[in-house]
Amino acid sequence: MTTRRDFLVGGLALAGGRAFGQLPGSARQRVVIVGGGWGGLTAARRLRLAAPEFDIILVEREAAFRSLPLSNAWLLGREPEALPPQDYALAARTFGYRYLQAEATGIDRQSRRVQAGPQALDYDWLILAAGIRYDYAPWLGDDARAIEAVRRLYPAGYVAGELDVLRRKLDEFKGGDLLMTVPPGPSRCPPAPYERAVMIAASLKARNIKGRLLLVDAGGGMQRFNRVFAERYKDQIQHLTHATIKAIDPFARTLATEFDEIRFDDAIIIPPQGAADIVRQAGLLETDAAGKPGAWAGFDPLHLHAVGDERVFLVGDLLGRASPLFGAYPKSAHMAARQGRIAADEIIARARGVMPAPTLPDSECYVHTAVDPAEMMRIEARYRLRGDGLIVQTVRQHEDPQPRGEDLDWARGLYREMLGRSSP
Ligand SMILES: Cc1cc2nc3c(=O)[nH]c(=O)nc-3n(C[C@H](O)[C@H](O)[C@H](O)COP(=O)(O)OP(=O)(O)OC[C@H]3O[C@@H](n4cnc5c(N)ncnc54)[C@H](O)[C@@H]3O)c2cc1C
Repeated sequence: MTTRRDFLVGGLALAGGRAFGQLPGSARQRVVIVGGGWGGLTAARRLRLAAPEFDIILVEREAAFRSLPLSNAWLLGREPEALPPQDYALAARTFGYRYLQAEATGIDRQSRRVQAGPQALDYDWLILAAGIRYDYAPWLGDDARAIEAVRRLYPAGYVAGELDVLRRKLDEFKGGDLLMTVPPGPSRCPPAPYERAVMIAASLKARNIKGRLLLVDAGGGMQRFNRVFAERYKDQIQHLTHATIKAIDPFARTLATEFDEIRFDDAIIIPPQGAADIVRQAGLLETDAAGKPGAWAGFDPLHLHAVGDERVFLVGDLLGRASPLFGAYPKSAHMAARQGRIAADEIIARARGVMPAPTLPDSECYVHTAVDPAEMMRIEARYRLRGDGLIVQTVRQHEDPQPRGEDLDWARGLYREMLGRSSP
C-alpha cells in the first residue's frame, strides 16, 4: 500500500472534497487521472459511479472543459458553442471526486507518484488521458523563436485553449491568402481540417471576401471533401495535396514545400502531433524494433495498461499502435470516452481481484461535408478480436445529405456521460 505522507503536509485546498491535509490515513485505493478531456472526465465519472470505495483525483491544468468537436461551425460563427465551457471544480463537487488544477510534470512509476504542480500525489492506479502535443520540429527544427511565433500568430485550434484566438483571427480576416496546413498522420480527428476548410470557404463566399484558403496537405485529402472543394468552392479553396513541408518562416510569412515557395497573409498552422509531454516524461512512448522511441504511447491493446506496468492505464488521443492490421485507433472524442470507460472498468475489476475480459472500444464521428445546404458524413469504426489475438477494424462512412442535428445528439449523449447533463 502506498503511503499518504505527502498529503498530510501542505494542506492543499481541493475543489470537490476536503483539503488533502484533512485526509484520513485510510486504506482507500487512490486513482489519479491526468487530463480532464473526453477520456479523463468519462473515466472519473464512471469510477465514481461504479466504485464508491475509491479516492479519485482528477489533475487538469485548465479551469474549465471545452469541446473541440463541433468547434468548427462555432469558429466561423455558424452555430453557438455546442456546450459552453464547463467548470471542473463544479463537476468534481457534483459527482464527488476531487479536482486539482495543476500541471502534471513527472511520474515516478517505481514509487507510484505523480508530480502535480508543487504536490506529489501517491497513486494505486493511474490513468493518463492527457491528449496530444504539437511537434513543430519537422517544419521548424529547434528554432525556439519561430516555434513561439507560430504558436502565437498562427494557432491550430487543436487544443481548446486556442479556440478564442482562432475565432478572432477568422472573424478579422479581410482578404488575401489564408494558409492552413493538414499535417501527416497519425493526428487528432483527420477530417477536422477539411470540415474547417468548408466552413471557411462558405464564409468567404457569403461575406464576399476577396480571399482564398490555401490548403497545404501532407496527404491526398478525403474523396468526399475533394469533390466538394472542386464543385462548390473552386474560387475559395486551393488544395495542394501530397505536399511535404520543408520549412515555414512565420516572420516573412512563407512556407516551402519540396516544389513550391508559398507566400501567405495569414495562417492556421496545424502541426504534426504526438502524445502529450507527460507520456514522454513517464517513459511510456512506444518503441520500434531497434528500441527507438516513437511519437505515441505504447500500450497493451487488450487492456489499455502501459507495457509492463499494470498500474498505469492509457486513454484517448495519446495512444500509439493498437494493431498491426490497422495501426492506431482513430483519434476521436468518442473513442477517448469509450476508452475512459474501459480503463475505469479495468481498474475496478483489478482492485477487486478480478482479471477483466478484454473490452474493445468503438468510434463515431460526425463531420459537415458541406453547408448551405448542409451535408454530413458519419464515420463509424468497429473492432473485434481475431483468433490470433489481433484486433480487426471495420470502418464505414455514411453520407447524409439531409442531416437534422445528429451531431448535436451524439455530443449531448457523451456530455451526459461525462458531465451528467447535456446542456448548460
Ligand atoms: C477541430 C476539431 C474537431 C473535432 N471534431 C470531432 C468530432 O466531431 N467528433 C469526435 O469524436 N472527435 C472530434 N475531435 C477530436 C477530439 O477533440 C479528440 O479526439 C478528443 O479531444 C480526445 O480526447 P482526450 O481525452 O484524449 O484528449 P483531450 O480532450 O485533449 O484532453 C486532454 C486534457 O489533458 C490536459 N492535460 C494535458 N497534459 C496535462 C498535464 N501534464 N497536466 C494536467 N493536464 C494536462 C489538457 O489540458 C486537456 O484538457 C475534433 C478535434 C478537433 C481539433
